[in-house]
Amino acid sequence: MFQCTGYAAEAPDKPLAPFTFSRRDPGPTDVAIEILYCGVCHSDLHTVRGEWEGSLYPSLPGHEIVGRVTAVGAEVTRFKVGDMAAVGCMVDSCRNCESCGEGLEQYCENGFTGTYNSPDTISGGHTYGGYSSHIVVTEHFVLHLPENLDPAAAAPLLCAGVTTWSPLRHWGAGPGKSVGVVGLGGLGHMAVKLAKALGAHVVLFTTSASKVEDAKRLGADEVVLSTDADAMGKRYASLDLIIDAVAAQHDINAYLNLLKRDATLVQVGAPEKPLATGVFNLIFKRRNFAGSLIGGIAETQEMLDFCGKNNITADIEIIPIDKIEEAYARMLKSDIKYRFVIDMASLPKAA
Ligand code: NAP
Ligand code: ZN
Ligand code: ZN
Repeated sequence: MFQCTGYAAEAPDKPLAPFTFSRRDPGPTDVAIEILYCGVCHSDLHTVRGEWEGSLYPSLPGHEIVGRVTAVGAEVTRFKVGDMAAVGCMVDSCRNCESCGEGLEQYCENGFTGTYNSPDTISGGHTYGGYSSHIVVTEHFVLHLPENLDPAAAAPLLCAGVTTWSPLRHWGAGPGKSVGVVGLGGLGHMAVKLAKALGAHVVLFTTSASKVEDAKRLGADEVVLSTDADAMGKRYASLDLIIDAVAAQHDINAYLNLLKRDATLVQVGAPEKPLATGVFNLIFKRRNFAGSLIGGIAETQEMLDFCGKNNITADIEIIPIDKIEEAYARMLKSDIKYRFVIDMASLPKAA
């Protein structure tokens, strides 16, 4: 075991604060990584504050991890000391079930091990995430970061990127398809960039008038203020796919109505309470209301390679770790352009 530092919350009503803990020494298949940057996902906030069921404390979040390899186990073949490496939302799964066999580890029938807030099947206790100095991960769950991408701006690809990439690919976003994106936060702005790069016509829906110009710069062909009933009405039954990345309660029916016949709204945003769905919106045009969870390891690498080729990263604001509570407060006000990324050089050194 070796000592690490990080930031963790002791309880749902306690702020994140400096925290010292141990990680396992790398085993034969493990890669040890010194973390340079970690993105701040709204899921971190839901988890730390206990908004979803099952938060484990101390809660040390972070699953958009970029860093440098400091040690590798004897059986590791794809990484060597000094390489850049990345870790997303998962650090393990059973690797035996049908879903794992298909490269869909996020749907592992035996439950994947989340980068944070999962039982740690190797060291005991529960997993601690990327708001920390180091992480040790079995090789299969470590990704290669394209060298041309800025490492800080690439960090959000590990969750916001793949969580939107996976449904865009699964439901065939591309030339000739109109894709709606709801909410211009971390996930939403990646959905806009990726859908555009895949060749789709992108329509962004936002509640923030201040984001309209930015959304066009990020790649949206059209931007609709969702509070403008006329503008919403004009998009009736016009979209082939909608990615809804809203983190709070909102009226899902306003968007279901914008789908063409047989088209699909994919919910990736995960507000804590159920979203009420008017069934007639679905019945009359045989529409689909679906969900999608992050992405598998192979498709995460595929997305990273696509972003490397197309020079796609997130629009970020770099923060020192002691500003994390301020960043959370701003996320809750939708005051985000468009992902906070923690510079891990700002971590207090171990006592
Ligand atoms: P974020 O950066 O905070 O963005 C959320 C955006 O939603 C806001 O910027 C805002 O966009 C919009 N919004 C917020 N409150 C709203 C309200 N009351 N009504 C309408 N729109 C509102 O969050 P994120 O990190 O992108 O995460 C988004 C959600 O996805 C979270 O719930 C997160 O837990 C979830 N998530 C799911 C997965 C998955 O695998 N399915 C993976 C990662 C994250 P505008 O200002 O443009 O309206
Ligand atoms: Zn996330
Ligand atoms: Zn499995």
